[in-house]
Amino acid sequence: MNRRGELDAIVVGAGAIGTALALALARDGFDVALVETRAPKPWRADDEVDLRVVALAQDARDFFIDLDVWSSIAGARTSPYRRMRVWDASAPGELDFDAAKDGAAALGWIIENKLIQHALWQAVEAERSVRVLCPAEVAAVANGEEYAEVTLVDGTRLNARVLLAADGAESPVRTMLGIDCNGRDYQQRAVVTHVATARPHEETAWQRFLPGGPLAFLPLADGRSSIVWSLPEAEAARVLALDDVAFRAELGSAFDFRLGEITATTARAAFPLRMRLAQKYVSGRCVLAGDAAHVVHPLAGQGMNLGFRDVACIRRVLRDARERGSDPGAAHVLRRYERERRSENALAARGLDAIERLFGASDPLTPTLRGLGLSIVDRLAPIKELFASMAAGKG
Ligand SMILES: Cc1cc2nc3c(=O)[nH]c(=O)nc-3n(C[C@H](O)[C@H](O)[C@H](O)COP(=O)(O)OP(=O)(O)OC[C@H]3O[C@@H](n4cnc5c(N)ncnc54)[C@H](O)[C@@H]3O)c2cc1C
Repeated sequence: MNRRGELDAIVVGAGAIGTALALALARDGFDVALVETRAPKPWRADDEVDLRVVALAQDARDFFIDLDVWSSIAGARTSPYRRMRVWDASAPGELDFDAAKDGAAALGWIIENKLIQHALWQAVEAERSVRVLCPAEVAAVANGEEYAEVTLVDGTRLNARVLLAADGAESPVRTMLGIDCNGRDYQQRAVVTHVATARPHEETAWQRFLPGGPLAFLPLADGRSSIVWSLPEAEAARVLALDDVAFRAELGSAFDFRLGEITATTARAAFPLRMRLAQKYVSGRCVLAGDAAHVVHPLAGQGMNLGFRDVACIRRVLRDARERGSDPGAAHVLRRYERERRSENALAARGLDAIERLFGASDPLTPTLRGLGLSIVDRLAPIKELFASMAAGKG
């Protein structure tokens, strides 16, 4: 903070994306305030595995290594996935992605959201150039000529060269800035739970496309699998209400018993699915990142990975600006971020949407394609590259 109490950056939201942003900027010598309504719950090794897990791509893992948080995450509870197998319930064929074919150790890692947040939060709290304000809630934002100003609900005012909003899919800051979103409500919910199976998961991420939505089995470090089962709203409600025995039987059958019987399950939860793309990422000195800027279908495990790519890009443009002696909140600096990330995120969101339509019940062409007996390999051919590069964290 300079003599007048002004900061380089204010980050709103300490989810994985906001915390990573604050940490990365602090490591580069920027003075940062991080504003969050509620502190993340601590991760403990003897707690049940968090119901929310993410498939972290290689580039996000490299970013964590760079931030020096990877060893605490990897040493806690993560599972690599070395293969990914994708098939369709209504047509022949199977896609098989294998890290070994590219000479890589893994395609990615399955990690609890809570563990990621815990590791980043601990690192940020130890950072002297981050002022953590928590619990604190943003009440208003304003763009000035030289600074962005944030007013908190308790009346505190903060000024910074740039305001970075990573306050999630419902982003109050995005609303305050009057930025609209385009998108689509999938009218699906993702049911999540952890299951034990008769056969081992083989460190493989499995995905079966069903008419109601995709079903993924993701390998956990303790040998169980984490389920993401996308279902139409009413089906999701019905499945959530099943007793354990009926749930295990339905899930096993939906998964074609690829790992044998489901022998145990944990609690279940469900999340609404939608695609949302902010119409712009920059307004004056304010910038959107992570889910505040884009929400995508989780079928290829991309949402958080795209957010970490936003963070890496913001870091790069702010660092370059400082090296050139430019104002980090100048329009041309922030536009560079917007140009790079908005098109890539939109491409990923639309690619995932196309895959969802191709396999879901909502696309009028789908029954015809299925009727023609086109295999998954044929149907995915135009987008296989996209799927493969996203799986490998290059999307
Ligand atoms: C079922 C499911 C499976 C998924 N699987 C994957 C996967 O495998 N891989 C992957 O990459 N992604 C996955 N995702 C997406 C991923 O979970 C999200 O992209 C990611 O969690 C978004 O992080 P974020 O930090 O942008 O937002 P959030 O985690 O929503 O964080 C926003 C933060 O802002 C705070 N906040 C909100 N308003 C205010 C305010 N006014 N003032 C201060 N603070 C505020 C909130 O308290 C919160 O802490 C999945 C999503 C779903 C639903």
